[in-house]
Amino acid sequence: MSRFPRPDYQPLDLYAPDRRLVALDLSDNTNLWGAPGAALAAVQAADSDMLTRYPSLYADDLKNAIHQRYGVPLDSITTGCGSDDVLDSAFRAAGPEGGTVRFAGPTFSMIEPLALMNGRQAVEVPWSRALQSPRTLLEEDPVIVYVCRPNNPTGTSAPRSWLDKLLGAAGGSRGPLLIVDEAYADFAAETLLAEAPGIPNLLVTRTLSKAFGLAGFRVGFGVATPEVAREVEKSRGPFKVSSLSEKAAVAALQDEDDWAMRTIAECVAARERLFLALKERGLEPLRSCTNFILIPVPDGSARTWNDALRTYGVAVRPFPACPDVGDALRVTVAPWPMLERFLEALDSVLAEGQVPAPEAALAARVRNPG
Ligand code: PMP
Repeated sequence: MSRFPRPDYQPLDLYAPDRRLVALDLSDNTNLWGAPGAALAAVQAADSDMLTRYPSLYADDLKNAIHQRYGVPLDSITTGCGSDDVLDSAFRAAGPEGGTVRFAGPTFSMIEPLALMNGRQAVEVPWSRALQSPRTLLEEDPVIVYVCRPNNPTGTSAPRSWLDKLLGAAGGSRGPLLIVDEAYADFAAETLLAEAPGIPNLLVTRTLSKAFGLAGFRVGFGVATPEVAREVEKSRGPFKVSSLSEKAAVAALQDEDDWAMRTIAECVAARERLFLALKERGLEPLRSCTNFILIPVPDGSARTWNDALRTYGVAVRPFPACPDVGDALRVTVAPWPMLERFLEALDSVLAEGQVPAPEAALAARVRNPG
């Protein structure tokens, strides 16, 4: 049998979102308020050692900053080159080999590829089913269960009581590794982070790519019991966070001015304003706990809307036939002047009849996504 291509890699492809340049990019949920001044200053102060020497093995300064900011013990923290990397390491760390990653979907588009990359099958349970019974996520003995909370792309958050039931049913250290992805929890009211070190077989993941404005530096982390954190560290390997990234991340987390908190507050206010502006236009956006909003559009029209908005220099992320939702557009929340430009583009494409107008049936179509 040939070594390349590896047979179980056949369904895998390169990640290829539409990254053509546009005047206003609202497609990837990064921080459009910019980057924290403290992180920029730390990068500008870099010396040549930071480029010529290897970084720290397991990002101890970053772990210290996470410990100080969130109060979680040092040995419960693992870090990585973005939270993608933490997820990837965790997907490798859990045993036995093969088996399934069971997840509530629609969700983060990298979950299926990450499962395949690690020789596992990805099995999607529709959010509407998973919410009715968290046990459906535990059926057929998965190795890993993944829940994104708040969820991408819906922006909604599964209730805490539901999560408690899932944790109760999962079986602790005898059960699967339960991953709760909190990439967007900075924009939500609630988090599991502080409790994670005390809950067996739970890993909570976070990123500095969103609220902390450091997507270009690729920094993420996870919090779990010391046993789980150590296994994930082993599978991650050394030198994963670059010296400059670690410096920038530490500065952002320790920032006395707390740029992140200030911009989170602005983002939440802009999100609520955008929600109302969309409703005024007859759209039925989903209530969001994140820095983006999912807007259902008439079925079969997500790509048409996307292309029409692009003619006005605005990029959003189209989701054709999104399970439980139907066709939809995901729009990143940005400073209000940018959202005004987005709304102007939206009004223009509607006025010109370039897209099918929203119908009253839109709201009824959405079935309780997570
Ligand atoms: N989880 C979710 C739900 C995401 O949306 C993203 C990025 N889009 C990530 C994880 C990965 O973030 P990063 O690798 O930049 O930390």
